Amino acid sequence: MAGVLVFAEQREGRLKKPSLEAVSEGRRLAAGLGGDLTVLLIGDDPTAGIPDVKRLGADRILTVREPRLRLYAPEAYTRAAEEAVRKVDPDLFLMAASAMGKDLAPRVAARLRTGLASDCTGLTCDGGSISARRPVYSGKAIATMTFVACRPAMATLRPNVFPIPAQPAGGRGEALDLPVPFEDSHFRCRTLSVEAAQGTKLDVAEADIVVSGGRAMKGPENFKYIQELADALGGAVGASRAAVDAGWIDHQHQVGQTGKVVSPSLYIACGISGAIQHLAGMSSSKVIVAINKDADAPIFKIADYGIVGDLYEVIPKLVAEVRKLKA
Ligand code: FAD
Repeated sequence: MAGVLVFAEQREGRLKKPSLEAVSEGRRLAAGLGGDLTVLLIGDDPTAGIPDVKRLGADRILTVREPRLRLYAPEAYTRAAEEAVRKVDPDLFLMAASAMGKDLAPRVAARLRTGLASDCTGLTCDGGSISARRPVYSGKAIATMTFVACRPAMATLRPNVFPIPAQPAGGRGEALDLPVPFEDSHFRCRTLSVEAAQGTKLDVAEADIVVSGGRAMKGPENFKYIQELADALGGAVGASRAAVDAGWIDHQHQVGQTGKVVSPSLYIACGISGAIQHLAGMSSSKVIVAINKDADAPIFKIADYGIVGDLYEVIPKLVAEVRKLKA
């Protein structure tokens, strides 16, 4: 059967937002390919995600359930995905470029001996030919790749790039269990627990607004300026590597080539020069605002709005204005 298969990731009974985006994009592409949209849910009880994927237009929902699948188990999840591909025989297999997707997708692609385009920011299907766009060389260039003679084509989708429609999409929404013959060897490696980092409100990779601080923060205590602006806007706190390496903020906040890749609607870079390795993590943000006291800082070349000034004066004024607007 032709069409699109999407693996949707869940955590504690809730589908992750990047997976909802992948399902929405899968719906759009399935219509273009003239096939069905099938969504794969894996877990100890993956049924909690069914209403959400139905609303996003899934024709079929395959559930793979096993107590040991509550958290990610690389070999078992690969086995389940392989079985789903065998059953559905899709043209295209999508998942989010989340930490799990980045681990799982290459395993599945290798097992299926097919092609994978990772961290895509655009997909098209034209008369059955599927192409993917993805940033390369730390975001300096965009590569367009076409899948030739590999089926299913596989792609992981960069979070926060693909829209989730507000309106429910039409789909048959048939749910069925997919039996997978697991062996103990599939569980040689599995996640036993996931602990949320202390004090973390929002993950930068999933936030719609990110406010980041760089070397100009001068110390951990000044990140309160960044936190205040992020709180006023309802966003997450990010950081450059300089701030992380100095020990002012935890690595989970780092944006860039060796940190997280973010694509929020709004990215505010405060006291960040705009090194290529930082841009690699945020240049696909929809609106970029830079606050820097050096008018020649490279960050201004990619910023949609630039404020030349001292962030310690600018940020409190921005916070006051945002609060006034929201009041
Ligand atoms: P700086 O480059 O020192 O810039 C500080 C800026 O703050 C300056 O532009 C200055 O004008 C401005 N400033 C100072 N005071 C104020 C003030 N009061 N108000 C307003 N502006 C002020 N970097 C990342 O960020 N993420 C990565 O993932 C990453 N990965 C890397 C991987 C490799 C292999 C390598 C080699 C480097 C990597 N880097 C990464 C480091 C990167 O090259 C830069 O060194 C780093 O991004 C610089 O951080 P910064 O912009 O905060 O600091």
